[in-house]
Amino acid sequence: MRRRTGRRHSQVLRSVMPCSQSHDRISIATGLPVVATAFYCLLWQQALALCLAYFFSCFMLSPDLDLHSEPYNRWWILKWVWKPYSKLIPHRSWASHSPIFGTLIRMAYLLAIPLTVVTLSAFALPYFGAISGVSTIQDWARGYNLSTLETWVEEHWRILASTGAGLEAGSLVHISADALVSFYKRLRRWFAKH
Ligand SMILES: [Zn+2]
Repeated sequence: MRRRTGRRHSQVLRSVMPCSQSHDRISIATGLPVVATAFYCLLWQQALALCLAYFFSCFMLSPDLDLHSEPYNRWWILKWVWKPYSKLIPHRSWASHSPIFGTLIRMAYLLAIPLTVVTLSAFALPYFGAISGVSTIQDWARGYNLSTLETWVEEHWRILASTGAGLEAGSLVHISADALVSFYKRLRRWFAKH
């Protein structure tokens, strides 16, 4: 019963939201001024990072990954990665469709898998020290400590900030389109009833 109610709620939401193709068209249309402004105002490396992040956010890291949507299918053989996310996050909840938090949660979710693998590998490597070649990897890993990471962030913070801005801009375009189309469709229904 609860499941059926959830499905009905999801159908109602779909009926008041723009479809994937509409989102894609909006992303391309808004992408043109984003690209022009970025390359006009920023250094080309920062502008490139912002634009790539913007389109990645629009087409791959969409807030609609909380559904089996077109962006979900675009992950192809890796779409299983987003299966728990789509199950855990209710569609159009604050966790996926809110400014800042939505992007942060998706990025944290996406990075959690490689970070877990790296952390487990760092703990496991000493146990395989005798194996040929692993000692070289350990030496390499020792060289990359926290201060190295800090130095790297200090040197590249502009690129990182541009990437973050691009990711968030893509998410904001999606959320705004959802909100505007919902408002327009609800307004039309209200006028039809009155
Ligand atoms: Zn959406």
